[in-house]
Amino acid sequence: MSEYLLQQTRVDTVLKHWQRFHGLFPTPFALAQADAEDVRAAWSGLGYYRRAGYLHHAAKQIVFKHSGVVPKTAEDLAALPGVGRYTLGAVASHAFNLPFPILDGNVMRVLSRLDHITENIQSSTTQKRLWLRAEALLPSHNPRDFNQALMDLGATVCSPKKPLCHLCPWQHDCRAHRRGVAESVPIRIRKNKVPTTFRAALVVTDKNDRLLLQQRPSGGLLARMWEPVACDIDDPSDSLVHVKKLSKQLKTRATPKLAGTISHRFTHRVWAVSVFTLTLRQVSEYSSERCRWVPIDDLDKLGVPTVTRKMLQCAGLNRTS
Ligand code: SF4
Repeated sequence: MSEYLLQQTRVDTVLKHWQRFHGLFPTPFALAQADAEDVRAAWSGLGYYRRAGYLHHAAKQIVFKHSGVVPKTAEDLAALPGVGRYTLGAVASHAFNLPFPILDGNVMRVLSRLDHITENIQSSTTQKRLWLRAEALLPSHNPRDFNQALMDLGATVCSPKKPLCHLCPWQHDCRAHRRGVAESVPIRIRKNKVPTTFRAALVVTDKNDRLLLQQRPSGGLLARMWEPVACDIDDPSDSLVHVKKLSKQLKTRATPKLAGTISHRFTHRVWAVSVFTLTLRQVSEYSSERCRWVPIDDLDKLGVPTVTRKMLQCAGLNRTS
């Protein structure tokens, strides 16, 4: 479970969620039986929401195919949904002491300095090279301790800035250190600017302190997560026009008010959202297939991503933080 939570996510972010997630789903059985909405709700705020679905399906596979016990062979582990090379290495090595390398950010930094790799660390060629190097270094005896030591070396001694080379057991072998350029490695070439998607969102509340949320489609970004009624727009200056169209469905005379704009960065795109509020003085009868009225205090029971919380905060619903 921890390795799914840690994919592309920092330890300090995961720590805030770990206890809650583990408390709710302490065993593969508990997770396999859980409702998908509850799993997404527990994952809220962690990002990369596809992982929640993968972990849920992995738990089901573990229960149905392996009698509820996490499999111990690399082949069975690799067959679990959401297990890529990093997760396979981490689980196989940490849990079962199998000889699989782990290449996390800390290990990448150590190895790229050890060999003084001056190509972009994110390129697939460099990644292949680093995996091969990690594999070649791995001893057959106690690979778990070796992997852990290598990660700790990167986390504590071979730090991004001012590495403590005088404490490092590899100081005589390390090419970047010997050349006096340790701090300039690894090389990261920034990706081109990511595209921006403009959106207009309407945060609707009614007299009963309920909030109207819509569920996103089952595929793509933030699949099945919840957000205010919203749509993509071409030109942010047209946002009011779009929001008025959205509000028409509610059959109300109340007019949307601009609360502000927020921006949220995903890995491959940025959302710039114009956030409007619409306060209904009555209890709304509106319903639709994708929308649901949710008591504001019950938001934690749904899969609500960080970008939705930003929109709600912008709309003045601070109880959602
Ligand atoms: Fe990192 Fe310095 Fe050790 Fe090289 S010698 S691996 S740069 S800590």
